[in-house]
Amino acid sequence: MYIRDTIVAPATAPGAGAVAIIRLSGPRALEILRAIWKPSHDNYLKPRRVYLGHVIDPDNGAPLDRALAFLMHAPASLTGEDVAELQVHGGPFLVRRIVSLAVSRGARLAEPGEFTRRGFLNGRTDLTEAEAVDDLVNARGEAGLRQALAQLSGALAQKVRGLRDKIVGIRAHLEAEIDFSDEDIRLPSRHQLAGEIERIIGDVAILHDSFVRGRLARDGARAAIVGKPNVGKSSLLNLLLGTDRAIVTEIPGTTRDVIEDTIQLGPIPLTILDTAGLRGEGGDAVERLGIERTRRSVAEADLLIAVFDSSRALDCDDAAIVALCDQRCGIAVLNKSDLPVHFGTAALHEAGLSMPALAMSALTADGLEGLRRELASTIDALAGRAAESEIAISRGRHRDALAQALRALKAGRESALRAMPPEIVAVDIAGAADALGAITGEVSSEDVLDRIFSEFCIGK
Ligand code: GDP
Repeated sequence: MYIRDTIVAPATAPGAGAVAIIRLSGPRALEILRAIWKPSHDNYLKPRRVYLGHVIDPDNGAPLDRALAFLMHAPASLTGEDVAELQVHGGPFLVRRIVSLAVSRGARLAEPGEFTRRGFLNGRTDLTEAEAVDDLVNARGEAGLRQALAQLSGALAQKVRGLRDKIVGIRAHLEAEIDFSDEDIRLPSRHQLAGEIERIIGDVAILHDSFVRGRLARDGARAAIVGKPNVGKSSLLNLLLGTDRAIVTEIPGTTRDVIEDTIQLGPIPLTILDTAGLRGEGGDAVERLGIERTRRSVAEADLLIAVFDSSRALDCDDAAIVALCDQRCGIAVLNKSDLPVHFGTAALHEAGLSMPALAMSALTADGLEGLRRELASTIDALAGRAAESEIAISRGRHRDALAQALRALKAGRESALRAMPPEIVAVDIAGAADALGAITGEVSSEDVLDRIFSEFCIGK
């Protein structure tokens, strides 16, 4: 339930910084601001102007900090309510102290995402725009930033609303058919109706399928380095990251856990994981546990970097890696090209490997640029570069809602083709409209909102 009380929270990250922002929103925001902060000069505060003053302890009038304040009147604010913001010095103790002053004057500590949620409930943003705020704050690369900005400007909401309007239009035809079944009015034939639904299915499916691209832009791509022990996986990871992140030793089985870090090769960040070497048998319990984790990381990775030691003959452990790469996207690295070479890319492809392969040396860095280029183009291919300018969805919530809309639309098309009564077709069409409405929040429930906003930080 939406309680119209006044909430308070720091809007800046915890920890020491030059400045911290404390935000108040609700019917008593201005009154509470006035109680804990006094302007230095003007006593009449105009909205959207910044004023210098002092934070004071209202119990004894003692000054606590010199601080700037500004206010926005409802409904022209981020939450749609009266909002006051204080810019104070960014000391964690000071911030806690000032927040507790606001609480002592009647404010409540805000829940995660509560400011944005209020903005949504007061019609200041739709759900996709609220989610875009979160994506913008968490963006890890150019592509994620661009995508969040487009979503924040309402591009996704507009697209979804456009599709929903078309569905509602079909529903209106069906309602007319139900209401005026005895009268002689011209309505589209069932085949025309099915054709119209089919076109919407096509558009909804395109948006649904943009999920991979949207997710990659938002979260980045994940690559797992795989290979039997001692082929140079940790050396390769260190080389790619430009740091000594992983331990390199001559003892097989040294990497027992999954080590990961992120690099930027292009607009989409790439998180690379070095995994415990995969070998059939042997190793102690800890190593076996590492191998189990490796299998999980491999399953979750968007692409694999399969490492082979070209200075030694291929063996059955290498064959297992080739099998692991079956049907997967990625790159094979024939490492240790600085040593006398035992086999080349042709041998790997003969062994059944379908990925592109390149020779390099993780020791001398020879061939590194080639690998970086190949990785960047693999990520581009995964994300579907050609479609970059189009809107993409990035959340499982959007994908699931679109999948639900697709199911309902397909059922509606079938019913239309089988000349079922318009009431039956209308049920499916209404289901599709509701599923799309859930994306923007036109159709929403408390628990859905709880789930969405609980992922936000406090103060957002
Ligand atoms: P991992 O077990 O697959 O992670 O392999 P490491 O990265 O720990 O490397 C195993 C051994 O191979 C270490 O002694 C490395 O110095 C060596 N090594 C790794 N890459 C190369 C390379 O390109 N050339 C040569 N000559 N040795 C390498």
